[in-house]
Amino acid sequence: MGAHSEAAEADDSGAGRAARRDEAVRAAVEQGLLGPDSPIVGLLDVTGIRESAARLRAAFAAVVAPGTPVLHAFAVKATPLVPVLRLLREEGVGAEVASPGELALARAAGMPVEMTVLDSPAKTPAELREALSLGIAVNADNPQELDRIDALMRSRTSRSPLGIRVNPQVGGGSIEALSTATATSKFGVALRDEGAREWVVQAYLDRPWLTRLHAHTGSQGIPLALMARGVAETYALAEEINRRAGRRQVDTLDIGGGLPVNFASEATVPTYAQYARLLAEEVPGLLDGRYGLVTEFGRSLLAKHGTVVARVEYAKASGGRAVAVTHAGVQVAARTVYAPGSWPLRIAAYDAKGRPKEGPDVVQDVAGPACFAGDLLAEGRSMPLLEQGDYAAALDTGAYYFAHHYGYNSLVRPGVYGFGPGGRFAVVRRAQTVEEVVAESGGAQVDALTRARWEVP
Ligand SMILES: *Cc1c(COP(=O)(O)O)cnc(C)c1O
Repeated sequence: MGAHSEAAEADDSGAGRAARRDEAVRAAVEQGLLGPDSPIVGLLDVTGIRESAARLRAAFAAVVAPGTPVLHAFAVKATPLVPVLRLLREEGVGAEVASPGELALARAAGMPVEMTVLDSPAKTPAELREALSLGIAVNADNPQELDRIDALMRSRTSRSPLGIRVNPQVGGGSIEALSTATATSKFGVALRDEGAREWVVQAYLDRPWLTRLHAHTGSQGIPLALMARGVAETYALAEEINRRAGRRQVDTLDIGGGLPVNFASEATVPTYAQYARLLAEEVPGLLDGRYGLVTEFGRSLLAKHGTVVARVEYAKASGGRAVAVTHAGVQVAARTVYAPGSWPLRIAAYDAKGRPKEGPDVVQDVAGPACFAGDLLAEGRSMPLLEQGDYAAALDTGAYYFAHHYGYNSLVRPGVYGFGPGGRFAVVRRAQTVEEVVAESGGAQVDALTRARWEVP
C-alpha cells in the first residue's frame, strides 16, 4: 500500500470527528442556530466528508493497476443535498442517481455527465431518452428495459456507457429490506434463474454497445465477504462474456456500494481500505488494469458526518421511566422509529449551553415530537439525564436520516448546516417554513373539493 493511503487510514477511531462535533454543537447554541425557536438542526462535518472521500480514493488507488480508470459515484439517495454533491464533486466523487429528481440534483451541483450513473428499477422511456442524449451511463435493470434502450439506440448514437445490472443471488444480510442479492430480489437480472445467464451473455453478443456490467449486492447489514462474493460473481460473468465475444467488450465493472457503517461506536469500521484489500485478495483479476471500475458508495461516505441535534422541550416521567420529549423523531429518523431493532442510533446528551452533559447514567427514553406512542429515537437508554432545555444529538445521521424527511404531523424539514473549522457554519438547506408546508399541502387549491368542477387538469 502506498504512503498516501496509509496516511489516510491513520485514524479510524473517530476521536477527531467527535471533538469537531462537540465544538459544532456548542457553536450552534452560542450562535442561535439552535435554541427555543429553532429546536432542531442537521449538522454536517465538512472536514469529515472530505476525509472520507480521500480515504475512498486512496483505498482503491492502492489496489488497482496504475492507470486504471476508477469512478466513485456517490449514491445520491443517501444524502440528496446539492451542496453535498458539489463538495463531493470537488473531492473527485461523481453521482449515482436513481430518479429524475436525483439526476436534477446532480446536474444542479454541476456534476459532469461522465461522472454520473443512472440505475433505477423503474426508468420511464423519457428518463432513458434524456440519459442517453446527455451521455450519462445507464445500467439496464431487466430485459424490458433493454428493449427500450434498443429502440433508442436504433434511432440515435449515444455517448452513454451502457450495461446491464445483474443480481448474483449470493444471499442476503441481516436487514432483509436492504438485501438486494437474495434469490427473489426485485433488482437486476437474477443470474441463477434458469436461462438467465445465457440470456445475459447473448444480450452482450448481440449488442456491441453494451460495455459495462453492474451489481450492487446490498446495503447496511451485508458482510464484507458476501459483498466480495457478489463482485467475484459479476467479474466471472464479465470474463465469460469477453471470452465468448473474443474481445474485451465489457471494459468496466460497476461494483455498487453497500459498505456497512458502524452505528455502535465512533470508530470507522469496516474501512474502504479493508474492503479494497479484500477485493484484491478475492478478485485480483478485477484490479489488474483490464477493467475500469465504478463504485457507488452512499452511507459509508456520509453517515458518520451528520448529526441531528434537537432541543429537549419537556422532561417528564411516565410509569417510573424518564422521558425526554425532543424535536427529533420520526420526521428525521423514520427507519429508527419504525424499525428500532435494525436501526439503533447513538444519542449524545448536551446541556443547555451545548456542552457534553456529565452526570450519572439514567435509563431513559428519548422521544420525538410526533403524535404516536412509538415515536422514540431511543428506548431505555442509559445516559446522563436529559433535562428541559438540554439537547439530544442523534449521531451518525448524515445518510438516510435528516436528508430523508418524512412529513408526519406536517413537521417542517429542519435546516441543515455544514460546519468547518473554528465553529463556522454554512447553510446547506434552509429550514422549511410553515407557509411552505401549507403551499405544498394544496394551500392554493383550498376550494378544490368544495367547489369542484371536476375538470381534467
Ligand atoms: C442504495 C444503492 C447504493 C448505495 O448503497 P449504500 O449502502 O448507501 O452504499 C448503490 N448502488 C445502488 C444501485 C443502490 O441502490
